[in-house]
Amino acid sequence: MEIFFDYLIFTMPDWLRLTLILCLIGINYGAEFFVKRSVSNLYRKTGSAEEAMNKLRIYNQYLLAILQIITIIPLEFMVAKYFTRFGKPGCILFMLLVPFVFLMLVNVGQLLIINQTYKRIRGTTESLFHQIRDIAVSFLLILAPIGIIGTITIFAREINIKSEVLKSIIPVATPIIMIFVINLILPVFYPKLLKAVHLEGERLRELLNELFDQAGIKRPKLYQWPTKEKKAANALVVGLVKPKVFISDYYLENAEPNEIAAIIAHEIGHLKYKHLLKRLLYIVAGLGGIYLAGYLMEWYENYTGREINLYLGLAILLVPFIFYISLGLLKYYRNQEKKADEFALRIGVQPEVMITALLKLARLNHMTTKLKKLDERFQTHPSMARRIKQIEKISGYKYEFHL
Ligand SMILES: [Zn+2]
Repeated sequence: MEIFFDYLIFTMPDWLRLTLILCLIGINYGAEFFVKRSVSNLYRKTGSAEEAMNKLRIYNQYLLAILQIITIIPLEFMVAKYFTRFGKPGCILFMLLVPFVFLMLVNVGQLLIINQTYKRIRGTTESLFHQIRDIAVSFLLILAPIGIIGTITIFAREINIKSEVLKSIIPVATPIIMIFVINLILPVFYPKLLKAVHLEGERLRELLNELFDQAGIKRPKLYQWPTKEKKAANALVVGLVKPKVFISDYYLENAEPNEIAAIIAHEIGHLKYKHLLKRLLYIVAGLGGIYLAGYLMEWYENYTGREINLYLGLAILLVPFIFYISLGLLKYYRNQEKKADEFALRIGVQPEVMITALLKLARLNHMTTKLKKLDERFQTHPSMARRIKQIEKISGYKYEFHL
């Protein structure tokens, strides 16, 4: 195994390195061709955009995304030798720049492969340039904070500190503080990132502001952002301290004012219960847990004089954390969604309006309302069918589906 890694990192000739990297990219393109054919076939057979989009989502989430992660790992090994000549911060920068370029090559290529099919099924008109820009922005938003947190943590570790306690706290405190700082700063850029403008329509603004008053929450800034070309119906709230509410103009155009109010009442629920802060605390608690487990293992080794096997140690640290941060976090998210729906009903949204608002959201996005149980566990939101059932349960109202 060691010989293999040695070869992969150091000895392999450059031409082979380049060929293998191109192969890694090619594998991702090949998978997208397969996905395109499969989704096109389903659409041809059923004529249902919902079903086709659901299949595409499943492929994206469980095949293409995972394939990208799997192919990035050998890539990082194969380019590692070029990093050794940089200092530590330069090394981090390059270790992030390489996956960024790789992910851009893979995702822009995949976009070119699937774009026509996607546009045909959903009837979207978004330009290629805008789509590529969105891909670049979303990867930067993921990779840049990782780079910043990594670099600052390294620098913080090298500060000369006498106190042993402080010395052991800094490596865990720095990333946690940075997570909060980034989450405080990022919302400032959201209006620009989304190209948002202040919400138009005096009456709608009044209607929504009344909702905030009713909930006992300070009126936030209301924005709308352009999504008609990509046909994305959505509403979101960002900001830990000074919240901002965004509604996509594609939804504004297609929904009734009372439906928009219902969706915003749900967002107010997130604000009222401080869901954004709680999500961060959940993640921080996970990081703290890893740190504590590491501390306990060290204590065990010192106390008993026995050494814990390296792989066992890593497994003890990482396996529970990975479950906690994936399935656990998603379950936590879905629970918050349920509570936000409940809140909307509590401040007076009629159950039938809430349900039609959700169904409209699904229809506009060509989203299926029902999900398989296992699939649902990997989603941030419960399926529409589950949310509707929950609303019916709380309110005692029975929705009549007009099919
Ligand atoms: Zn929500």
